[in-house]
Amino acid sequence: MRSSRTIVIAGAGIGGLTCALALAARGFHVTLLEKAELLEEVGAGLQLSPNASRVLIDLGLAPMLATKAVTPETVSIMTARSGGEVMRLPLASRAHPDAPYWLVHRADLQGALLAAVQSHPDIDLRLAAPVQDIVATDIVRVGDLEASALVGADGAWSAVRAKTFPSIQPQFSGLMAWRGTCDAANLPADLRPTGIQLWMGPRAHLVVYPMSAGTRINMVAIIPGEPLAPGWNAPGARDDIDLHFSRARWPANARAMIAAIDNWGRWPLYTMPDGGAWHSGRIALIGDAAHAMLPFAAQGAGMAIEDATTLAQCLGETESNDELPAALARYTALRRPRVTRVQRTARQQGQIYHLQGPMAFARDTVMRLLGPRRLQARQDWIYHWRL
Ligand SMILES: Cc1cc2nc3c(=O)[nH]c(=O)nc-3n(C[C@H](O)[C@H](O)[C@H](O)COP(=O)(O)OP(=O)(O)OC[C@H]3O[C@@H](n4cnc5c(N)ncnc54)[C@H](O)[C@@H]3O)c2cc1C
Repeated sequence: MRSSRTIVIAGAGIGGLTCALALAARGFHVTLLEKAELLEEVGAGLQLSPNASRVLIDLGLAPMLATKAVTPETVSIMTARSGGEVMRLPLASRAHPDAPYWLVHRADLQGALLAAVQSHPDIDLRLAAPVQDIVATDIVRVGDLEASALVGADGAWSAVRAKTFPSIQPQFSGLMAWRGTCDAANLPADLRPTGIQLWMGPRAHLVVYPMSAGTRINMVAIIPGEPLAPGWNAPGARDDIDLHFSRARWPANARAMIAAIDNWGRWPLYTMPDGGAWHSGRIALIGDAAHAMLPFAAQGAGMAIEDATTLAQCLGETESNDELPAALARYTALRRPRVTRVQRTARQQGQIYHLQGPMAFARDTVMRLLGPRRLQARQDWIYHWRL
């Protein structure tokens, strides 16, 4: 029998698709409204740390994801000062099959989530259905739909947030993310990463890792830049990236990997201010709509996935529609301290990665003194999360 409790979700990104599955698993009927006519993802990779992979596995997605994901054993921290490795951090992904560290192609993750959503009888996915008109009283009206609650999972430029909290706006960070991919075979064997490589350099950093069962390489380069129009990205010109990763500042091995990429695109990095409102009555925000963050802790999607399952749990604990506003307030209270700490960690990591001159030397020395286990243990509070 169809549930009498319908939740509308705006946005079928990673957050919205996960939220739809988590709510449907708790007996809600979900209408998922997506403004795009076709669900497509950026042709790039995504790191899913154990806190996120655990949720996806609990939702039954392991069979579709595990064969395509790469489970890296280590993160190599490299320095542009010498071209060498400062340290290699263990990830022990394979040791924890219930929560591995996964490197996935975004399209593979979206495909797995979408297949599960489309085969669920209690989820109604509508494409080319932008959320615009919202009226909230003791129910929520979204266009001509009526729902018990509305979840805004519609990204950094959220229409739900703009209607609900118009004064809260994304802010440009001054940084651009350049993303590109290549066939693993395009890189010489000695440069082909088997795990994650993080390259720290003057006012820039690079992240390189394999995906698509090791057949493709994903690269993200972070450099200063000018904002584009809100919500836009653009192709990236090779001359620009070569300028930032010049021979004077970057070693030959990093430049050879950059040269192998032939499809650069650039994204201005916008973030939401810490501490903005996430819920009002029967409306709540999740993922980038609530807390778009710098990607330097590789946790934006992870936090959207955690939000989704936490929100579903809070709503699932209610017995009547009257209790839903209090449940959304509980969701915000549960999530905010952790997400704020992750946002702060991401900002600090960016500052550390981009140090120059003597400060970069001091950073590399401190990292070596701390050693791999202690450095890796600093991520435990992120990775060990469970609901
Ligand atoms: C360079 C870079 C690297 C990153 N790497 C990682 C990583 O390794 N690991 C990680 O965890 N995170 C990473 N992130 C962050 C991650 O990509 C985002 O945090 C995550 O995709 C946010 O998901 P979301 O579902 O909240 O929003 P989105 O992915 O933005 O999805 C929003 C959806 O809503 C739709 N929409 C928008 N407006 C409307 C409307 N009015 N009505 C209906 N639908 C609407 C959009 O079309 C879209 O489908 C990275 C980000 C960047 C920029």
